[in-house]
Amino acid sequence: MKASQLILGTQRENPADAEITSHQLMIRAGLIRQVSSGIYNWLPIGKKVLHKVENIIRNGMDSSGAQEILMPMVQPASLWEKSGRIDQYGQELLIFFDRHENKFCLGPTHEEIITDLCKNLLTSYKQLPVTLYQIQTKFRDEIRPRFGVMRSREFIMKDAYSFDLNKTGLDESYSLMREAYIEIFKDLGLDYRIVKADSGAIGGSDSEEFHVLADSGEDLLAFSDKSDYAINAELLTELQEGQDPLSLEGKPSPDGKGVLKLKKGIEVGHIFKLGTKYSEVLNLRIQGEDQDIYPEMGCYGIGASRIVAAAIEQNHDEKGIVWPESLAPFKVALVEVNSKNNQKVKEKCEEIYALLRENNVDTLWDDRDKRPGVKFADMEVIGIPLTIIIGERTIESGHIEIKKRQDEKPELVSHQDLLSIILS
Ligand code: ATP
Ligand code: MG
Repeated sequence: MKASQLILGTQRENPADAEITSHQLMIRAGLIRQVSSGIYNWLPIGKKVLHKVENIIRNGMDSSGAQEILMPMVQPASLWEKSGRIDQYGQELLIFFDRHENKFCLGPTHEEIITDLCKNLLTSYKQLPVTLYQIQTKFRDEIRPRFGVMRSREFIMKDAYSFDLNKTGLDESYSLMREAYIEIFKDLGLDYRIVKADSGAIGGSDSEEFHVLADSGEDLLAFSDKSDYAINAELLTELQEGQDPLSLEGKPSPDGKGVLKLKKGIEVGHIFKLGTKYSEVLNLRIQGEDQDIYPEMGCYGIGASRIVAAAIEQNHDEKGIVWPESLAPFKVALVEVNSKNNQKVKEKCEEIYALLRENNVDTLWDDRDKRPGVKFADMEVIGIPLTIIIGERTIESGHIEIKKRQDEKPELVSHQDLLSIILS
């Protein structure tokens, strides 16, 4: 892609309302632009990264055997009345009426819709176990949207729902999904932890959250220093009847092994065992081995758009974003320096750009008529892992300058070695 044709949208100034680094950098690197409180446009570079996140999630889900579907964002409020959640969800549920005065809501989650959908789709236990998922826009009228897409009102979630004949089946589907999440977060290249969690408004029994560790995280997590015990401090407070979680540091771990240490996390995924809560209330009955049963359900969310922000919280420096390879919008930035003075500079860029394209190296060729400093600053704030610099010096010396995002100085390489270095 040529930068002269790309809608870059980079900007130098931090937006006044951006309190945390990822929000500042997402605006400065031209990933997102605000439309209204908690509602954002995704610009080309941001969309590319979001697409990478979604594809990593999609691959993990498909490998686990889950099947992708797409449900509507607009949901009949009658289903929420039936499940009893219309009041429980409160004002986060955005309700509106169509021209015929039918009541609808914008989906903050899809337990009601999926359960209703399965009423006609699942008829016999022989079709189980089955897990269906979607990657789709959610709307929650958050009381205090903040931190850009980290806590927005409209956001992209992957939500999956499993259906099983009995509790043993549910345990297996839950474990399978947990394993799939572990693979997904490994592929995303993020430093994360799994903690025991509260089931909140969704309901159900067992539940665990996946957190990306970051000081800007809104959740406090408690870990034993001697075992795998890890819990969201919110739930620990509930279990310990209201003790201040900050007093929960240095205390003995509830599993009897070691003492608790506190860290902050950003919740990027959440898995729940729902049991028969929704299948019963929405009357999803299917033929069992001897008699009709209500399937045991599980639900599993990942915040795709929040992951983009969380990845930046974990991967940045004073110049901008430092993408993990898996999420970088481009692998290489090809920066053309002062080509007006020397026609050979452009020719060399064309040659290298063609070589990289032939080898499927996703490259952003900065062919804009701008000062080198502006180009370098843009490529650095966007966080492209490798920069190739082509200028008069390249033509004179015959060597190509290549710089890793966080290196101070470029390395000089020969034209012959360039490709193997990039592909290594
Ligand atoms: P939180 O505690 O952060 O409000 P939640 O527990 O309400 O989140 P879930 O219902 O578990 O969220 O949703 C699944 C995933 O969707 C979350 O793990 C999170 O990554 C993402 N998510 C939830 N709310 C938002 C939001 N307002 N903006 C962006 N992502 C969100
Ligand atoms: Mg949650």
